[in-house]
Amino acid sequence: MSFWRAKTLAEMSDAEWESLCDGCAQCCLIKLQDDETAQVHYTAIVCDLLDQDACRCTRYPQRHRLVPACIEISADNACQLDRLPASCAYRLIARGEDLPAWHHLLIGSGEEVHEVGVSVRGRVIARQFVHTDDEQNYVVDWVEQ
Ligand code: SF4
Ligand code: SF4
Repeated sequence: MSFWRAKTLAEMSDAEWESLCDGCAQCCLIKLQDDETAQVHYTAIVCDLLDQDACRCTRYPQRHRLVPACIEISADNACQLDRLPASCAYRLIARGEDLPAWHHLLIGSGEEVHEVGVSVRGRVIARQFVHTDDEQNYVVDWVEQ
Protein backbone atom coordinates (compact mmCIF):
# COMPACT_ATOMS: atom_id res chain seq x y z
CA MET A 1 0.00 0.00 0.00
CA SER A 2 1.23 3.52 -0.70
CA PHE A 3 2.82 5.14 2.35
CA TRP A 4 0.36 8.03 2.49
CA ARG A 5 -2.51 5.55 2.75
CA ALA A 6 -0.76 3.27 5.21
CA LYS A 7 0.70 5.85 7.59
CA THR A 8 -0.45 8.87 9.51
CA LEU A 9 1.45 12.12 9.01
CA ALA A 10 3.20 11.51 12.34
CA GLU A 11 4.44 8.11 11.19
CA MET A 12 6.04 9.32 7.97
CA SER A 13 9.78 9.61 7.49
CA ASP A 14 11.22 13.01 6.64
CA ALA A 15 11.59 11.97 3.00
CA GLU A 16 7.99 10.75 2.82
CA TRP A 17 6.80 13.93 4.49
CA GLU A 18 8.64 16.19 2.05
CA SER A 19 7.50 14.16 -0.94
CA LEU A 20 3.87 14.82 -0.06
CA CYS A 21 4.11 18.49 -0.98
CA ASP A 22 2.70 18.94 -4.48
CA GLY A 23 4.54 22.19 -5.18
CA CYS A 24 1.41 24.24 -5.77
CA ALA A 25 2.71 27.14 -3.62
CA GLN A 26 -0.83 28.16 -2.77
CA CYS A 27 0.28 28.27 0.86
CA CYS A 28 2.68 31.07 -0.12
CA LEU A 29 -0.13 33.35 -1.27
CA ILE A 30 -0.91 36.38 0.87
CA LYS A 31 -4.29 36.16 2.55
CA LEU A 32 -6.49 39.02 3.71
CA GLN A 33 -9.00 38.76 6.50
CA ASP A 34 -12.22 40.78 6.51
CA ASP A 35 -12.32 42.73 9.78
CA GLU A 36 -16.08 42.43 10.11
CA THR A 37 -16.81 38.90 8.93
CA ALA A 38 -13.41 37.31 9.68
CA GLN A 39 -13.63 35.70 6.26
CA VAL A 40 -10.25 34.93 4.71
CA HIS A 41 -9.56 35.86 1.08
CA TYR A 42 -6.63 34.59 -0.96
CA THR A 43 -4.84 37.07 -3.19
CA ALA A 44 -2.61 36.71 -6.25
CA ILE A 45 0.17 38.28 -4.21
CA VAL A 46 2.87 35.88 -3.24
CA CYS A 47 5.71 35.82 -0.74
CA ASP A 48 8.89 37.46 -2.01
CA LEU A 49 10.90 34.33 -1.27
CA LEU A 50 9.00 32.17 -3.73
CA ASP A 51 10.61 31.08 -7.00
CA GLN A 52 7.49 31.69 -9.05
CA ASP A 53 8.48 29.46 -11.94
CA ALA A 54 9.52 26.45 -9.89
CA CYS A 55 6.86 27.22 -7.26
CA ARG A 56 9.43 26.41 -4.59
CA CYS A 57 10.75 28.41 -1.66
CA THR A 58 14.16 29.93 -2.32
CA ARG A 59 15.02 29.87 1.41
CA TYR A 60 13.30 26.70 2.51
CA PRO A 61 15.53 25.82 5.52
CA GLN A 62 15.28 29.37 6.90
CA ARG A 63 11.69 30.11 5.86
CA HIS A 64 10.11 30.36 9.30
CA ARG A 65 12.83 32.61 10.65
CA LEU A 66 12.73 34.90 7.63
CA VAL A 67 8.95 35.02 7.18
CA PRO A 68 7.04 34.83 10.47
CA ALA A 69 3.75 34.40 8.60
CA CYS A 70 5.04 31.32 6.77
CA ILE A 71 2.74 28.47 7.76
CA GLU A 72 4.47 25.88 9.90
CA ILE A 73 2.99 22.53 8.96
CA SER A 74 3.51 19.57 11.24
CA ALA A 75 1.73 16.36 12.07
CA ASP A 76 0.27 17.74 15.26
CA ASN A 77 -0.79 21.27 14.44
CA ALA A 78 -4.22 20.59 13.06
CA CYS A 79 -5.28 24.16 13.83
CA GLN A 80 -2.84 25.38 11.20
CA LEU A 81 -4.30 23.10 8.55
CA ASP A 82 -7.33 25.35 8.14
CA ARG A 83 -4.94 27.99 6.86
CA LEU A 84 -3.95 25.73 3.97
CA PRO A 85 -5.86 25.38 0.68
CA ALA A 86 -8.28 22.49 0.32
CA SER A 87 -6.05 20.74 -2.21
CA CYS A 88 -3.00 20.68 0.09
CA ALA A 89 -1.76 17.12 0.50
CA TYR A 90 -1.02 17.57 4.21
CA ARG A 91 -4.52 18.80 4.91
CA LEU A 92 -6.07 15.99 2.86
CA ILE A 93 -4.07 13.23 4.53
CA ALA A 94 -4.62 14.69 8.00
CA ARG A 95 -8.35 14.50 7.34
CA GLY A 96 -8.22 10.92 6.12
CA GLU A 97 -8.71 11.78 2.46
CA ASP A 98 -6.72 10.59 -0.55
CA LEU A 99 -4.44 12.61 -2.79
CA PRO A 100 -5.94 14.29 -5.86
CA ALA A 101 -5.61 12.43 -9.16
CA TRP A 102 -3.04 14.92 -10.50
CA HIS A 103 -0.67 14.50 -7.54
CA HIS A 104 2.90 13.63 -8.56
CA LEU A 105 3.03 10.62 -6.21
CA LEU A 106 0.18 9.08 -8.22
CA ILE A 107 1.20 9.95 -11.75
CA GLY A 108 4.97 10.37 -11.48
CA SER A 109 5.10 13.87 -12.92
CA GLY A 110 5.55 17.11 -11.02
CA GLU A 111 4.26 19.12 -13.99
CA GLU A 112 0.63 18.12 -13.67
CA VAL A 113 0.03 20.43 -10.71
CA HIS A 114 0.84 23.30 -13.07
CA GLU A 115 -1.03 21.90 -16.05
CA VAL A 116 -4.31 21.38 -14.22
CA GLY A 117 -4.19 24.94 -12.92
CA VAL A 118 -3.63 24.23 -9.25
CA SER A 119 -0.23 25.84 -8.86
CA VAL A 120 0.34 29.59 -8.71
CA ARG A 121 2.74 29.59 -11.65
CA GLY A 122 2.11 32.40 -14.12
CA ARG A 123 -0.62 34.19 -12.17
CA VAL A 124 0.93 35.86 -9.17
CA ILE A 125 2.91 38.94 -8.30
CA ALA A 126 5.58 39.26 -5.62
CA ARG A 127 4.59 41.17 -2.51
CA GLN A 128 7.38 43.69 -2.94
CA PHE A 129 5.63 45.05 -6.05
CA VAL A 130 2.24 45.67 -4.46
CA HIS A 131 1.44 48.60 -2.21
CA THR A 132 -0.35 47.55 0.96
CA ASP A 133 -3.31 49.77 0.07
CA ASP A 134 -3.75 47.89 -3.21
CA GLU A 135 -3.73 44.34 -1.82
CA GLN A 136 -7.51 44.06 -1.81
CA ASN A 137 -7.50 44.53 -5.58
CA TYR A 138 -5.68 41.22 -5.95
CA VAL A 139 -8.23 38.94 -4.29
CA VAL A 140 -8.72 35.76 -6.35
CA ASP A 141 -11.37 33.06 -6.52
CA TRP A 142 -9.20 30.23 -7.86
CA VAL A 143 -8.08 28.89 -4.49
CA GLU A 144 -10.39 26.33 -2.96
CA GLN A 145 -10.61 26.81 0.80
S1 SF4 B 1 -0.33 24.13 -0.16
FE1 SF4 B 1 0.43 22.21 0.70
S2 SF4 B 1 0.93 20.96 -1.08
FE2 SF4 B 1 0.78 23.07 -1.83
S3 SF4 B 1 2.89 23.87 -1.72
FE3 SF4 B 1 1.89 24.38 0.23
S4 SF4 B 1 2.43 22.69 1.60
FE4 SF4 B 1 2.84 21.99 -0.48
S1 SF4 C 1 9.02 31.69 3.17
FE1 SF4 C 1 9.02 30.24 1.48
S2 SF4 C 1 7.55 28.63 2.06
FE2 SF4 C 1 7.19 30.41 3.39
S3 SF4 C 1 5.57 31.60 2.37
FE3 SF4 C 1 7.55 32.43 1.67
S4 SF4 C 1 8.03 31.33 -0.22
FE4 SF4 C 1 6.42 30.17 0.84
